[in-house]
Amino acid sequence: MTNTLYDQLIAPHMASQALFAVDDAGQGHSYAQFAGRTAQIAHVLVSMGLTPGDRVLVQGPKTLDFIALYLATVAAGGVFLPLNPAYTRDEVGYFVGDAAPRIVVCGADQLGQMQDVCAGTDAQLMTLTPDGAGSLQRRADAQPTTFDPVPRGPDDLAALLYTSGTTGRSKGAMMSHRNLLSNAVSLVDLWGITDADRLIHALPVFHTHGLFVAMNTCLLAGAQVRFMAGFDLDAIVDEMQNSTLLMGVPTFYTRLLSDARLTPETTANMRLFISGSAPLLAETHADFTTRTGRAILERYGMTETNMISSNPLAGDRVAGTVGYALPGVEVRVIAGDDPAPTGEIGMVEVRGANVFQGYWNMLDKTKAELRDDGFFITGDLGQMDTDGRLSIVGRGKDLIITGGLNVYPKEIEDALNACDGVLESAVFGLPDADFGEQVAAALVMVEGTDADTAQIAQTIAPQLARFKQPKRYEVMAELPRNAMGKVQKNVLRDRFG
Ligand code: AMP
Repeated sequence: MTNTLYDQLIAPHMASQALFAVDDAGQGHSYAQFAGRTAQIAHVLVSMGLTPGDRVLVQGPKTLDFIALYLATVAAGGVFLPLNPAYTRDEVGYFVGDAAPRIVVCGADQLGQMQDVCAGTDAQLMTLTPDGAGSLQRRADAQPTTFDPVPRGPDDLAALLYTSGTTGRSKGAMMSHRNLLSNAVSLVDLWGITDADRLIHALPVFHTHGLFVAMNTCLLAGAQVRFMAGFDLDAIVDEMQNSTLLMGVPTFYTRLLSDARLTPETTANMRLFISGSAPLLAETHADFTTRTGRAILERYGMTETNMISSNPLAGDRVAGTVGYALPGVEVRVIAGDDPAPTGEIGMVEVRGANVFQGYWNMLDKTKAELRDDGFFITGDLGQMDTDGRLSIVGRGKDLIITGGLNVYPKEIEDALNACDGVLESAVFGLPDADFGEQVAAALVMVEGTDADTAQIAQTIAPQLARFKQPKRYEVMAELPRNAMGKVQKNVLRDRFG
């Protein structure tokens, strides 16, 4: 019998002595060791009563056992549900209530709140800690290192990933084995990932980027992973001399740029720098090329769809665009009910084996966002140029409508970012009695620069129609961002509204 994901990501490695991962202590783990660990944890899950389709909810530290738990869940026929360790008791209570997990695993830091949340439910609670002494890990130590995977087909669920939910309740995106595998196959091919690669992994593992984009591709290709517990600039700079790949969010690249050690020499061994999960500023792209001689490859995706588009491995990586639709993925830009003319802004819609199965327990939301013809309405506004390159101009809900006119924040942000002294900006709408909404801008200045907002307003005035020009400026030390480096415009709206 087969288990779609397990058969491709773990089974081929059962006896492989090749190096899979190196942790922060410099300890190497072979593929066979990792596959064996996956088997041990799968035995624990089954012994705790996991049956096919049951959810395994995990809120814990980034460790290799966390990744083994993901694949053990898949092997045991379960559905992996990772949560951001920063979620509070109330937030976790919502996820536990909504997903009704059979097994809950948490770090030592979350144990108190998790015990509260799970009281009165059927969930079995275990712990996972970086030192390997969590109750799940101790039980796993005593288990056999082989496991017969539970049969699962391409349409069975492998994971439930809750969206970050900046408006309304967070929604659980149901991901099938096919959704995850098809995307990993495309990305390995597109980015040329092989067993000669070594990835610097400094992303969180509760999100599609660090968990699926990074781990599934490396497992599929048999690549090595330098697995870091968190973002550590010094460690990344050191590791670039031994590694070939970095997958990061844009803030990784701005932080690297702030370090004098980022040079052509220190990056000489690196084959590819990939960015995604939030827009990469054209300026960051250009600065990175100036400093290293290398062009960052920007790609676009989201929890519900896995990866959608990517700039090419060979060919121009154009700043400000997210490249071409992945093979087998259809992308269209819709204005009203029809395809938008080339170059015009509209709603980005996506169809393909990568697109999720719907929202857990939310039939209405699923129907509203997943069309009958299989296209998913991403909520992102974008435009497609004549050769099929896509650019994202922002989330639809961040569109500002002032006096009946549309203002796309990115256009204003680009103009502001180009002003002397402006490090970065975020443009958002605030309620306005006359116009419905007014345009507001939050600015972060380059260190040591005074903000002269009158001067900035004067600089952008000739470039933008009057209705697009910010009516209000707020200067901030930094923009509010979530764990994936996305600017939280809802926080700006609440704070300044
Ligand atoms: P998440 O579901 O947390 O992965 O967030 C997905 C959202 O992040 C997308 O819908 C986009 O709004 C945004 N996003 C991801 N990658 C990019 C990118 N390269 N450029 C612009 N926005 C991006």
